[in-house]
Amino acid sequence: MEALALNEDSGLMAAIRYFSDPMVCLEAVSKAKWPKGPECPRCGCKRLSFLRTRRTWTCLECRKQFSVKVGTIFEDSPIGLDKWLTAMWMLANCKNGISSYGVGRALEITQKSAWFLLHRIRYAQRHGTINKMTGIVEADESFIGGKARNMHADRRAEKIHSRGPEGKAIVAAVLERGGRVHARVVGTRRKKDLQALVRENVEVGSEPHTDALKSYDGLQEYTHKVVDHAVEYVNGNVHPNRLENFWSLLKRALKGTYVSVEPFHLFRYLDEEVFRYNERRHGCHAVSEGAEFLAGKRLTWDNLTCQEVG
Ligand SMILES: [Zn+2]
Repeated sequence: MEALALNEDSGLMAAIRYFSDPMVCLEAVSKAKWPKGPECPRCGCKRLSFLRTRRTWTCLECRKQFSVKVGTIFEDSPIGLDKWLTAMWMLANCKNGISSYGVGRALEITQKSAWFLLHRIRYAQRHGTINKMTGIVEADESFIGGKARNMHADRRAEKIHSRGPEGKAIVAAVLERGGRVHARVVGTRRKKDLQALVRENVEVGSEPHTDALKSYDGLQEYTHKVVDHAVEYVNGNVHPNRLENFWSLLKRALKGTYVSVEPFHLFRYLDEEVFRYNERRHGCHAVSEGAEFLAGKRLTWDNLTCQEVG
């Protein structure tokens, strides 16, 4: 395996060959996910047996079976780790930047799949981790921009009910209590859109908190908790308060700048605000902790791009 290891001079073909070995991919992701060695995602136990033929672990304590993808951004993707890691390598090594078309051609996947991969990888890069959010995670959505107040009231009510009022964009977000936020522009407030955001970003078994919107019904693999605004605003520690704070920061930032209602433009502002919010949070921490975070970020990323694996 050592002869194959990648270095600064390696080209794309070398990277593709390198990541074609499933054990290389498994080791790279495993190191990034569990720097202190693999552990059971259910009980945290480290007494595991590894089944080489299936590349899965079984927990000797609770019998849970899991793969290296569990709880990571790779989890729900049908695309193999060989392609994910090659895309990561391309992103880290192609100095002139890469497009989803270029990645699609190199990995023999559709441009659409490549776009999704790059989007997820940039997200992981920005957050400094390939792991999904855990613990208590607030999920909520908000209408942004538009001219709803000029509309006739009946029409407005009707529009607000289903797809969002004309001219308004819908933004959905998830926020890890004591952690990061992630937000994106969604087409509707339907189950498909809102639950996808939760599933892509939140580890199974965590505790999403939402309001009573029906679209959040059916998150069975989670400990879903609901606060009904019609009845109470805060139900113990079940509340979307931190996201409310994020929405007001976002709306304040958009005021004045946000004239167009095209979601195409909105997502840039949104990404920027998410970045600012997450940075601000780190800024509040002690300096040493912030430095550690950055070191961890680099380390994780290097492991993933396999500079040190081999
Ligand atoms: Zn276990």
